[in-house]
Amino acid sequence: MRINAHRLHESLRQLARIGATPGGGVTRLALSSEDRSARDLLRRWMEEASLRVRVDDFGNITGRRAGSESGKAVLMASHIDTVRRGGCYDGAYGVLAALEVMRTLNDAGVTTRRPLELVNWTNEEGVRFEPAMLASGAVAGRFTPEYVYGRTDRDGVTFGDELERIGYKGDRDNRPGPVAAYLELHVEQGPVLEDAGIPVGVVDGIVGITWSEITIEGRADHAGPSPMPLRRDALVAAARLIAGVDDIARAIEGAVGTVGRITAEPNVINTIPGKVTMSVDLRHPDSATLDRLVAGLERLASDIAALTGVTVAVNRFWTSEPTPFAAEIVDAVETAAAEMGISTRRFWSGAGHDAKYMQDVAPSAMIFARSINGLSHCEQEYSTPEDLEAGANVLLRAALGLAGIEGERTSHKRG
Ligand SMILES: [Zn+2]
Repeated sequence: MRINAHRLHESLRQLARIGATPGGGVTRLALSSEDRSARDLLRRWMEEASLRVRVDDFGNITGRRAGSESGKAVLMASHIDTVRRGGCYDGAYGVLAALEVMRTLNDAGVTTRRPLELVNWTNEEGVRFEPAMLASGAVAGRFTPEYVYGRTDRDGVTFGDELERIGYKGDRDNRPGPVAAYLELHVEQGPVLEDAGIPVGVVDGIVGITWSEITIEGRADHAGPSPMPLRRDALVAAARLIAGVDDIARAIEGAVGTVGRITAEPNVINTIPGKVTMSVDLRHPDSATLDRLVAGLERLASDIAALTGVTVAVNRFWTSEPTPFAAEIVDAVETAAAEMGISTRRFWSGAGHDAKYMQDVAPSAMIFARSINGLSHCEQEYSTPEDLEAGANVLLRAALGLAGIEGERTSHKRG
């Protein structure tokens, strides 16, 4: 059994028209009117595929395909909201590939043992309402409904009001699940698969992320009469620290480190910078290694302070622990790809996805399709039709393996 690649691409093309940008991308912010139109189309397609559609109290849309057994379902999920001027594939691909799996099973007249559910998560991107992955986090119990409804956008409009305005505030009883296993197919958004010449990635988990705020205090002074040996230039110290963060990350396999934001004061051409604040983003699949990276950052900060006479404070203010996916689901995905003759590479996701929270709820895994030039969250985001087809076929096969086919014996445990 194979998915219908033409039908998948046609659905992607039609959905990408809603919120289309002149540059070939999509702007479809969560709970906007564009999001509503896209939801309406998705809902119609789900109903046409004979799915039983329900909407929960966070606006998550679930379409259920009955199995020969009732009870826990195998979920296939992603999101159709986008960032501003985002691409046509981030999120939409996972949702529409899951829809294509349902359509393919309908065409083949296959009944699975476990039910299958397709889920469109609300507000994955977190661009309009922070934080990201708000609705999956709420379903996993990380956020209360009050917290979710009270999130406001730039204009002070709340999540709760917008959810009602677009007509997608449903019932608590309509949340996805109960869940036997969770699968999320997504474009890679990075260069690993392209670099390896491999179409599909099997994702081991989502890396841990830790954010620190650095404050460097030196002495602001006139740029002319201050001889070099007598200066305490906060921005020179910051330059050493930025280079040092890069060194620290490069020295540890699998680590990445980024200084993405920096402010110098007073930020004037002829004044020695007296104060710098900057961010450090460190990521690694292993929690202890993440701590080692931060310890390295703290050592670096005190070395620079001693060398340059400034003070450097490191405040580690936020950490998202690494989330390894369930080995049995990761293996099921890898086996599915192998059975279809599709070559894969296993690696960790450097970005967050709804699967991170769902791993708290049920055994989960992700599948990646190769991204061209590793680009994402931009209009240039692209994956070839062949790679999208390969990823969707792995999703189909993995879902069948986990759900089982009526009347067939499988090696997968039930219960
Ligand atoms: Zn996404």
